[in-house]
Amino acid sequence: MNARAITKARLTDETLDVLVIGGGIVGSCVARDAAMRGLRAGLVEQRDFAFGTSSRSSRLLHGGIRYLAQGKIGLVREASLEKTVLHHIAPHLAAPLPFVFATYRENRAWKLWQLMFGVKLYDLLCGGRNLGHSAWLDAAETLQTVPGLRAEGLAGAVRYFDGFTNDARLVLDTLRSAAGHGASILNYARYRRADREGLWRVEVEDGVTGERFIIAAKTVVNATGPWAEGLGPSAVKLRLTKGVHLVVERSRLPVTDAVVMTDGNRVLFAIPWGERTILGTTDTDYAGPLEDVRTDGEDVAYVLAITNAHFPNAHLNATDVISTWAGLRPLIASSKGGPSDISRSHQIRNPEPGWWDVAGGKLTTCRLMAEQTVDRIVAAEGMKAMLCETDLQPLLAGEPGFSGLLPPEVRREAVTYFCENEWAVHLDDIMVRRTSWHYYQRDARATARQVVRWMSECLGWDAAKGEEEMERYQAMA
Ligand SMILES: Cc1cc2nc3c(=O)[nH]c(=O)nc-3n(C[C@H](O)[C@H](O)[C@H](O)COP(=O)(O)OP(=O)(O)OC[C@H]3O[C@@H](n4cnc5c(N)ncnc54)[C@H](O)[C@@H]3O)c2cc1C
Repeated sequence: MNARAITKARLTDETLDVLVIGGGIVGSCVARDAAMRGLRAGLVEQRDFAFGTSSRSSRLLHGGIRYLAQGKIGLVREASLEKTVLHHIAPHLAAPLPFVFATYRENRAWKLWQLMFGVKLYDLLCGGRNLGHSAWLDAAETLQTVPGLRAEGLAGAVRYFDGFTNDARLVLDTLRSAAGHGASILNYARYRRADREGLWRVEVEDGVTGERFIIAAKTVVNATGPWAEGLGPSAVKLRLTKGVHLVVERSRLPVTDAVVMTDGNRVLFAIPWGERTILGTTDTDYAGPLEDVRTDGEDVAYVLAITNAHFPNAHLNATDVISTWAGLRPLIASSKGGPSDISRSHQIRNPEPGWWDVAGGKLTTCRLMAEQTVDRIVAAEGMKAMLCETDLQPLLAGEPGFSGLLPPEVRREAVTYFCENEWAVHLDDIMVRRTSWHYYQRDARATARQVVRWMSECLGWDAAKGEEEMERYQAMA
């Protein structure tokens, strides 16, 4: 029996305490939390782990400094503390990152004195343990720190700290941890339907073999992010907004600190990423297909226009863009205000006995969302469980393997490792989510050809299957 068959047998043979639907950051954190408390936990994901929003974020662990301007102190404090927790439990995926937020005399939305006050409050809200101390910069110091930034009208800047992460790796390492604590984890396994006859009987379709099977569970957790509204008896109401990111050569925009760029009261970022710079993001209401969210020409033009306005000598254009990604924010519905005004808070609902929806929030707060969800399940179901320790135990017990903030070197050992230890089934699983090579490599297609050869050796693919995988990857790209 191969590893998938073993996992399927475990999922079908026993009655689970908690079955999680959705292998994004929320689902993976719930599975880890439940397994660490000694509950029998399983997780099914319709595509690859982190296929959804959790591989398409800005990759920041942040308290959300802009929410201070909206007076959401509680939300900022919660996320700020979580940022430091992630730095503690997963240092390989949480590097302190300084941000320079410059203000201009003509910009009424962001006043320097407000930012100066804001960053000090921001440090305090981390319990005085922010990832670095904030500072105030005059105009000359600002330009020294961020060469090339527009000088005209510059009032000064603040410099504050958040964290830089790797969203998809955070999901995968959380799942490795969950599996290490006994959870049964299966990708390419889609929830189809569920009935309750004392226990939940959940029908799941194996995306590799097409076979359908039943999993019995005392409780089901709907952690399907943007898909959460449509699943079973879900009570979630979402407002989906799209955000895109562009990747350019670092030499075209050589920032060493992250730079906050503004458009009215919106903020965008230029984020250093090894030899690349990430630019983003947008925030527009979305009503298209959930499985195929794309960056369009308008998105690219908008992000480049804002970047060029802040770096007038950069003259970035569409040919500078190496890659892009686009994702959907699963925000708790509110028709009031623009997309950027909607709360990033989360919601846990229990519409039917044993069925739990958990939605909203952000990457930074997912560990806490999971803790609160499992607390409520344990209390409501009268389950015997240990106390939550996900904030104390390191995410990985041993070496990070090929996991980190930057893509690993392109080599056979890494590819073999992902196939044997990290559930890689398709070429894009490795190119996009295990490694980010798809976003980082200038000639990602050539890398993909090499990876197909290595995956073929490892997974026993013939030439036709290798070609099929290349086509699948290119269609996705
Ligand atoms: C542009 C953008 C930038 C962001 N930047 C940041 C940031 O810098 N920092 C931060 O903290 N947060 C950020 N966020 C927010 C954060 O990324 C999301 O809140 C988080 O990733 C949502 O995770 P999730 O697990 O709820 O959803 P997802 O990651 O979408 O996971 C849901 C999963 O459920 C699966 N699924 C759906 N239906 C089924 C089914 N029937 N059966 C099985 N599986 C199913 C999907 O395939 C998917 O993988 C950003 C979001 C966006 C869009």
